[in-house]
Amino acid sequence: MKFSKIAMLCSLMALHAHTAQAADLKAEAQRIAQQYLLIDTHIDVPYRLQEHWEDVTQATAKGEFDYPRAKKGGLNAPFMSVYIPASYEKTGGGELLANQLIDSMEALVGRAPDKFAMAYRSDDLAAQFKQGKISLALGMENGTPINGKLENLRHFYQRGIRYVTLAHSESNHIADSSYDLRRPHKGLSPFGEQVVAEMNKLGMMIDISHVSDAAFYKVLSLTKAPVIASHSSLRAFVPGFERNMDDKMIQALAKNGGVIQINFGSSFVISQANQWGLQLKAAAKAAGKSSDDEVFRAEYLAKHPYPFANVDTVLKHIDHVVKLVGIDHVGIGSDFDGVGDSLPDGLKDVSMYPNLIEGLLKRGYSEADIVKIMSGNLLRVWRQVEAVAAASQ
Ligand SMILES: [Zn+2]
Repeated sequence: MKFSKIAMLCSLMALHAHTAQAADLKAEAQRIAQQYLLIDTHIDVPYRLQEHWEDVTQATAKGEFDYPRAKKGGLNAPFMSVYIPASYEKTGGGELLANQLIDSMEALVGRAPDKFAMAYRSDDLAAQFKQGKISLALGMENGTPINGKLENLRHFYQRGIRYVTLAHSESNHIADSSYDLRRPHKGLSPFGEQVVAEMNKLGMMIDISHVSDAAFYKVLSLTKAPVIASHSSLRAFVPGFERNMDDKMIQALAKNGGVIQINFGSSFVISQANQWGLQLKAAAKAAGKSSDDEVFRAEYLAKHPYPFANVDTVLKHIDHVVKLVGIDHVGIGSDFDGVGDSLPDGLKDVSMYPNLIEGLLKRGYSEADIVKIMSGNLLRVWRQVEAVAAASQ
């Protein structure tokens, strides 16, 4: 009797210690999220607002980014994606749309200069963080607006674009796309090679997310500065998905001094979700419907629930990169506002980065290492890109 009472007391105490420890980790993750710079290199706010405008300086009903949620999650430096759909390569109008999307970010800052500031240099991030402002940096997703003219590249540099994703879902006049079975350039076009050289000179980061493997290796053979994958994950967990990177590419990226920023979209993170998308497409085709057809999609979803990734499966990608090439080559490129309703449980919007940090703490990452993932690695690359540009002047 007495013994079992003691045993029960002991197990209660152990349970209490365990919960206290978990609460400590949660608080620790919150503190780290708020204390340091947190950079996310791919958030699709500009195009989201172009389609369905909301005032993200306030809480919004829709979307995955707004000011209050960014503050809660500790996000201080999102790269806003100036996304140009692949169709603009043929129709034209990419330059116009890119300028309009940049205008919209400047307007956002203009409406709430106490909350946001544009960021043009790596040093701006820490300075604006000190002032309590969220820095908006700009990345252009798809080189279509360059439109065969280096002067356009220089124009968009002047307007604040600090990385360019060379191609998107289709091959363009610069590079071949991983999603496109046609590979007209077998990597980069001759103009694409000039774009790489000019980006090095200007101090723009080259983003190799979306491009084909051949384009990736061609960029690495030409660039004088480290490159980024602004929102890619690993083929190790989604075999056959060329939009992600394989181990050999990660090793080459590390040798270049670059960084892969992990995409949170479930179809990038786990094979089941990736397969789900392919099966939806096949079913739609069989039914003579488009996979974008909302009614068809809803019916399909009801019968085939979407297999969401979770914080743990995202962390596996980070762990894998760290085991393969060390702590200096991985960061965060969520793709919030860009992947629809496919975000992992526990990482549904910009308020939830602390869940990722808590997971890193649980896995034994030191505070210094976590800060590298949050922002240090990307900052290092950006500074080197600026230094290479300065040296070439
Ligand atoms: Zn993308």
